[in-house]
Amino acid sequence: MNQKNHSRVFGNKLLWLFLICCLASIKVHAGQNETPFLTHYLDPKTEKKIDAILAQMSLEQKIGQMSLRDWGEFKHENMDSVAEEIRSGRIGGFLNVPRNSDDPKAFNRIQIFAVEESRLGIPLIFGHDVIHGYKTIFPIPLGQAASWDPELIEHGARVAAKEATSAGIRWTFAPMVDIGRDPRWGRVAETLGEDVFLASTLGAAMVKGFQGEDLSSPDSLAACAKHFAGYGGVEGGRDYNTANIPMRQLYDHHLPPFKAVIDAGAVSVMSSYSELNGIPGTADRHLMTEILRDKWEFTGFVVSDWNSVMEMVEHGFVADDRDAAKRSTNAGGDFEMHSTALGNNLKDLIAKGEVSQDRIDSAVRRLLRAKIAMGLFETPYSSEGEEFLKEDYLQASKKAAIESFVLLKNKQNVLPLSKKQKVAIIGPLAEVPYQQLGTWIYEGEAKDSHTLLPALNSYLGKMKGNINYAQGLPYSRSTDTKGFKKAIKAAKKSDVIVFFGGEEAILTGEGHSRGDMSLPGAQQLLLDELAKLNKPIVLVLLSGRPNTLEGVLDKVDGLMMAWHPGTMAGPALVDVLYGEQSPSGKLPITWPKSSGQLPVYYDHKATGRPPADDNYTRIQEIDPAVTWQHDPGNSSNHLDYGHRPEFPFGYGLSYTDFKYSGLKLDSQKLLVGDTLNVSIQIKNTGRRTATEVVQLYVRDLVGDVTRPVKELKAFDRVTLSPGQMKTVEFELDTATLSFHNQELEKTVEPGRFKLWVSRHSQDEENASEFDIIE
Ligand code: BGC
Repeated sequence: MNQKNHSRVFGNKLLWLFLICCLASIKVHAGQNETPFLTHYLDPKTEKKIDAILAQMSLEQKIGQMSLRDWGEFKHENMDSVAEEIRSGRIGGFLNVPRNSDDPKAFNRIQIFAVEESRLGIPLIFGHDVIHGYKTIFPIPLGQAASWDPELIEHGARVAAKEATSAGIRWTFAPMVDIGRDPRWGRVAETLGEDVFLASTLGAAMVKGFQGEDLSSPDSLAACAKHFAGYGGVEGGRDYNTANIPMRQLYDHHLPPFKAVIDAGAVSVMSSYSELNGIPGTADRHLMTEILRDKWEFTGFVVSDWNSVMEMVEHGFVADDRDAAKRSTNAGGDFEMHSTALGNNLKDLIAKGEVSQDRIDSAVRRLLRAKIAMGLFETPYSSEGEEFLKEDYLQASKKAAIESFVLLKNKQNVLPLSKKQKVAIIGPLAEVPYQQLGTWIYEGEAKDSHTLLPALNSYLGKMKGNINYAQGLPYSRSTDTKGFKKAIKAAKKSDVIVFFGGEEAILTGEGHSRGDMSLPGAQQLLLDELAKLNKPIVLVLLSGRPNTLEGVLDKVDGLMMAWHPGTMAGPALVDVLYGEQSPSGKLPITWPKSSGQLPVYYDHKATGRPPADDNYTRIQEIDPAVTWQHDPGNSSNHLDYGHRPEFPFGYGLSYTDFKYSGLKLDSQKLLVGDTLNVSIQIKNTGRRTATEVVQLYVRDLVGDVTRPVKELKAFDRVTLSPGQMKTVEFELDTATLSFHNQELEKTVEPGRFKLWVSRHSQDEENASEFDIIE
């Protein structure tokens, strides 16, 4: 996406309002090619300053700069020895310095050792995993991605940056822009979904939010794009596992989001724990040097993942820590997280000519450049004025939660609820102050959570007696059926049952993958019991991944995916369940029918025998007498699951209806380099104000290598009141249609393209075609 155009559309609120209000017409640009943010720190003045520092540094101090240590390692140690390591320049930064409410000066006291008591006064950098909020927790990244709202995501990251920097942190290990195609993988919760364009756009927005307008401002949180690269492709969704990704797929699918966030200004990149095609990310020279530095001209630094330099021994890629230090440094690693292989070995490796002095100077230059750009030399200390959980932060978190909810089923408009209805609130995840926060929260606390029941009480006021609450199960994995009786009793007294199920936070996140993604514990059993009452059931899922719903979906009338919504889950859920707001989220990831259906993603290839709804036989339909192999109609599908997922990428319902009409392309024939203008009218034909996410997909019909059946190329959000119609316009640069051909050259090929403007990736109602001519 062209950076200027991108910020013009998503970043500039005034222009945005102007376009909405005055023209009732919205233009969205889809393009690529940007200028790395840090390039302007390559000014001679900064580089001269770095030259001067480098000239004064001993080799030991340079190697020390390349060491990022985990504060947790030192917790039982005498502070004096840590202080001594810092003073002598053997440490360049820390991660995971815990916030201590009794001691808000902790960061500054550590920084003093570096800035005031070391020979060169080079400041430390403090890093932390601020993944979806610091104290005010926002929805998990996958949930945020369901909003398809870059402006909202940018704002959430800004709030996180303000809170974290007020505590003393200046660097976050986010955004994670690994492509999340496998929901078994626990870290899918941390991704921005399965799509290249969506993850690129939203990842770039996060970087802008974290870093703000000016990286040197004390409230700017330097970003880190992770995990470079291919971590999202770990086999079987098992965390830390091997990834085997063909180069073309790597270039077209996994790398573009990294390019986008670097172009948005990300200061650093974290290499991946996982191995890619036989080479651990920690020592992948092709990725870290040839692509990142040489091709993309990245001027920031690369940090390894936690202990990953040493884990190359376990990978069987290096023999020992000396070998590990050599391979990772020579490949382009600049900053070693947690382990100390570099500190222990680089001096000797340089002396023996196995690592060059230039490589060390280049690594230290990159680290110093970032520290200078971040203003750490001028403002090494934090303000010590912590600002957490402010009202506007909470409101931003609530808005993000509302926009993240995806309505997936709404039979006979079971939702929204009415205040007059008697509602049974049941399930292990209804009142869950801690679980609602999701994975990867360090500083988020249950005590700060706004939960469902108090929110319901305050919303319903005098009518709060209409709520009958019974948990049914104490936690998501519980098989203890003792609470069923009470739950059934509560349901019997009610007109409608709202069941809060899904997964606790611990079932996703790092190291927490599942092979079976169905509802854990006895949830299904309880739902079966409730279904016997013949009352409408709404299932609200709180989960870090799409859960498979075989045997469940048919029993419920309504289904809403709420992810792990964060601090403001309760008020956000109440607003949407009672129709104060219409849900507008759309799935950022394909929802599978079963684990056996994986991998399942929307931008797959056609195959030579494309599946269709009418060209396969379902397993039950196979005539037992038929023995001839080809009878059930050979196409690419599963006999039991067919070819469609449970819900497609981009899917999500609303409390209103939208009519799409009048798809127009301003040209049917384009030259490479041209821009195609596409417009469509969207009308709210229902009775409520709501937002629709309008999606533009393209298929390149014939390619030098086969092309996906569909690829998202642009999207936009449009809010319409009942009866209102707006024209949505998209600008599509032909550059966005490029891909890597057989020679692995990036190319835009002349030929015919199909285009859809759709509600979701399987909606083909509004289609057209165009040609790129020579
Ligand atoms: C994770 C990273 C994280 C780092 C520091 C690792 O285990 O893979 O994503 O940033 O720890 O906490």
